[in-house]
Amino acid sequence: AKSRGRSGYQFHNAEQSARARERVRLDGDLRRAIERNELELHYQPKVRVSDGGVVGAEALLRWRRGGGALVPPDRFIPVAEDTGLIVPIGEWVLRTACETAVAWNAHQPPGAAALKIAVNLSPRQFWSPHFVGMVRAVLHDSGCRPEWIELEMTESLLIDSRGQVAAILAELRQLGFTLAIDDFGTGYSALGYLTRFPITTLKIDRSFVNEVATQPARAGIVRAVVGMGHSLGLELVAEGVEDADQAAALRQMGCHLAQGWLYGRPVPRAEFERLQAAVLGP
Ligand code: C2E
Ligand code: CA
Ligand code: CA
Ligand code: CA
Repeated sequence: AKSRGRSGYQFHNAEQSARARERVRLDGDLRRAIERNELELHYQPKVRVSDGGVVGAEALLRWRRGGGALVPPDRFIPVAEDTGLIVPIGEWVLRTACETAVAWNAHQPPGAAALKIAVNLSPRQFWSPHFVGMVRAVLHDSGCRPEWIELEMTESLLIDSRGQVAAILAELRQLGFTLAIDDFGTGYSALGYLTRFPITTLKIDRSFVNEVATQPARAGIVRAVVGMGHSLGLELVAEGVEDADQAAALRQMGCHLAQGWLYGRPVPRAEFERLQAAVLGP
């Protein structure tokens, strides 16, 4: 029993250290990713549920590790969040999204609604010492108007006990950004923050949208969230819309905007521009 216990312990240890070594490698490679131009921003269309018209895109980060295969964000963002690398990476994301927004909106005919790009913020980035100053600098350097950018954050960031969360959100909102709660419904949903903070948008999590046409209980939750959003004057975005039945259910409920494979997958900027040439103008 004793030796089994020991080998069990050693096995556990070996597995742990293999995982730790992999993280160190990942971290080292990621550190060089920015300078080596291995990061890419892909864009997924956001559409009006009523008529499918494209109103903008969500920017989603990809890493072409060593110039080879694309690493999905779920694989490296948690590591970057732990090590703090998410701070320079997040700045690169915002800068790149702002430059894209400038290019897309340069050609919009006067009077046409601006195309808006949604950018994901991570908590570590939000709490970095010069976050708002960095944001202002990126706006200034790129010539991007804050109305062209929506900042997405998860509920966990908002229920942070640090008092400054309200002050930082107020500053971002005053600059002119819209502020979205990502994955709405999957966090603690302490609804008080919806009135305490200047939130403009709720993104209903894919796990609810998935079954909005097939699961009455899920549909009930989505209907309730949409109703609450309407009465609070919030914009509602459904994530992960994959089929026409889901779109029809969301339309009937009065959800404003949607994203998902039904309308388009995340693609590199050049491909997005090719696919949306009619929307993006000359
Ligand atoms: P998210 O912000 O909730 O992004 C939505 C995810 O759903 C994306 O995964 C997108 O590709 C995927 N998706 C979109 N439509 C559909 C659909 O119809 N069906 C299904 N099954 N999936 C769909 P992705 O690109 O792998 O991103 C995963 C997460 O990584 C994001 O979740 C976000 O939390 C994080 N992330 C991505 N880019 C960034 C970034 O620039 N900064 C930060 N901090 N996080 C990012
Ligand atoms: Ca998001
Ligand atoms: Ca989401
Ligand atoms: Ca997510």
